[in-house]
Amino acid sequence: MSTAVVTGGAGFLGSHLCDYLLAKGHRVLCIDNLDTGSLQNVEHIQSGEDFLFINHDLTEPLFLDEPVNYVFHFASPASPIDYQRLPLHTLKVGSYGTHNMLGLAKFKRARFLVASSSEVYGDPQVHPQAETYWGNVNPIGPRGVYDEAKRYAEALVMAYHRQQGVDTAIARIFNTYGPRMRPYDGRAVPTFLRQALEQKPVTVFGDGSQTRSFCYVADLVRGLVALAESDENLPVNLGNPEEKTLLELAETVIRVTGSSSEIVFEALPVDDPQVRQPDITRARQALGWEPEVSLEDGLQRTIDGDWEERGRDTPNLVARDQPPGREES
Ligand code: NAD
Repeated sequence: MSTAVVTGGAGFLGSHLCDYLLAKGHRVLCIDNLDTGSLQNVEHIQSGEDFLFINHDLTEPLFLDEPVNYVFHFASPASPIDYQRLPLHTLKVGSYGTHNMLGLAKFKRARFLVASSSEVYGDPQVHPQAETYWGNVNPIGPRGVYDEAKRYAEALVMAYHRQQGVDTAIARIFNTYGPRMRPYDGRAVPTFLRQALEQKPVTVFGDGSQTRSFCYVADLVRGLVALAESDENLPVNLGNPEEKTLLELAETVIRVTGSSSEIVFEALPVDDPQVRQPDITRARQALGWEPEVSLEDGLQRTIDGDWEERGRDTPNLVARDQPPGREES
């Protein structure tokens, strides 16, 4: 049986990845310090021979006394609210954390996959974004801690691959949504869903003309595992190529939820990218992968998933998750 380490495994994407890997017959070691994740995301998985949860901060070294075949490195604050609350930690987990996990993969001769992000493209001057585009990132803006951590992690992965011979993969993940997102994590889909389901105004930043693409989590996880099982070492975009404006997303959420909410407009955040759309030619060719779930279907599945339970979470969840004084350490 093959063993996969999933860091950030108690988070949104990591927990879906754990489910998928277990269903495919892998043994899973889920490693998380619960900074932004929750045990609730993995409580449905029986702990035992096939699944082990390890509470560990990845900025510290990790020793595992058993064979490992895959390392999926997903640990990192991911929503702007989280990484702006944890700027130093975001840089540390992208740097030390990635070093530590690459060292583990090297020692175990495991295939290593890092969760990079479309944010490495910054506010792109090229549209849609192919992997050959080098990006346009503001290193000193409020988003720089996340964007540059991901860019540094990519550089590190390629160095371990080229100089140390580690078998590595880089997934450039575009906006993904689905069950287990936190209603107050600040990302567009859970925010709009929460507002629409509560019949409150749906808040769109700017005039809503900025574009994003939204990939349903089951599609993404299928692509991640296909990438891990491939022999591709260069970055691969994984996301839904169907481009939507934020205004279209808000309208779709209101339609799918049957809400009577109105749409209101708020100031655009600093360095908010104007456009975002993956060119997934490489994923199609190298992995035979493309998304299958439509936005309407994915939103419905998100609501049917665990939304009612999550909806009871309060904005304080963010504050409760964070040990006091963490950023000073
Ligand atoms: P998430 O916040 O739900 O999950 C991140 C997980 O990492 C959490 O469980 C958190 O507790 C854990 N973590 C953070 N720091 C840690 C540390 N030092 N040690 C151990 N665990 C730690 O976010 P997500 O949306 O599931 O994102 C997962 C990964 O995918 C991140 O690396 C993110 O940058 C990347 N990504 C996500 C998206 C998306 O749309 N969701 C898009 C691009 C990239």
